[in-house]
Amino acid sequence: MSEPFAMRLERLAREAFDELAAACDLAALEAWRVRFLGKSGRLTEELKRIGTLGPEERPLAGAEVNQIKGRLEAALGARRESLAAAARETQLAAEAVDVTLPGRGRGLGGLHPLTQALRRIEDIFAAMGFDWAEGPEVEDEFHNFEALNIPAHHPARAMHDTFYLAEGGLLRTHTSTVQIRFMRHHAPPFRIIAPGRVYRADALDPTHSPVFHQVEGLVVGEGIHMGHLKATLKRFLEGFFEQALSLRLRPSYFPFTEPSAEVDIGCLLCGGKGCRVCKGTGYIEVLGCGLVHPEVLARIGIDPERDSGFAFGMGVERLLMLKDGVPDVRLFYENDLRFLRSLR
Ligand SMILES: [Zn+2]
Repeated sequence: MSEPFAMRLERLAREAFDELAAACDLAALEAWRVRFLGKSGRLTEELKRIGTLGPEERPLAGAEVNQIKGRLEAALGARRESLAAAARETQLAAEAVDVTLPGRGRGLGGLHPLTQALRRIEDIFAAMGFDWAEGPEVEDEFHNFEALNIPAHHPARAMHDTFYLAEGGLLRTHTSTVQIRFMRHHAPPFRIIAPGRVYRADALDPTHSPVFHQVEGLVVGEGIHMGHLKATLKRFLEGFFEQALSLRLRPSYFPFTEPSAEVDIGCLLCGGKGCRVCKGTGYIEVLGCGLVHPEVLARIGIDPERDSGFAFGMGVERLLMLKDGVPDVRLFYENDLRFLRSLR
């Protein structure tokens, strides 16, 4: 075996190892493999050249080339492993998830503020022993008007802008209809509330909606009087508004109660000093009430000489607007999530 061949092989091996160490990615590694070990690679060329050597030199030269080839291939494998591992590390680092970041949240649904208010109202009255009653939203003139002492041509009918249905009947204008339905099937004493939707042919504006929610209350029994009414309403209103309130009953008129009253509470905003919300009066009107008219009781077979009762009706939207300072009733129906969440 001639010196030049062995020396050349030695130099080739050194170069190959140096360049391999410098290859810094898998593409460079592949280029290196083609350059030294490929079909026309430098080591392959040396292998071909063995045929030009003398017969006595060939076995040693062949063994030498194969030995170098084996070392280069092993080194290539090791280098490929370590570069692949480094690449994996880099990728993992880039895709790392920071488990300490706060979650994005899934936006749980919630009950509508009106539903929540209705439930609060029901809870407060349930704690005072009231039962819950309901009636249909499509009513007849008897339950909506006549049984409540509002005969045809009574001026009070004009105050109720009623939706009449083409096939007869109407959409109830108040939940007082439930009083009549309940009293026909239950003997006193009883106390109920009747929450539900009511309809008035009003244009939608900041304080009116053609559909809104009322809660009707009715207590009938022996010896029921205005004192019971006022105490019940005070307890309810203070529970609902979560503060002590001054209550004022102002004489009013409803066909189905006698005497009738509007209930005012001390202004929530100014505490009675007078402001824009209470229009300088220090009081805000919250609901209407009265003692059940003896005519109404008699008409459904309850003896007004023995039993008496009180009734009240309130608008849920109005109470909630006062409690949470909602400026426009339409916000309750537009379902803008920003508004709905603000009342949670
Ligand atoms: Zn005020």
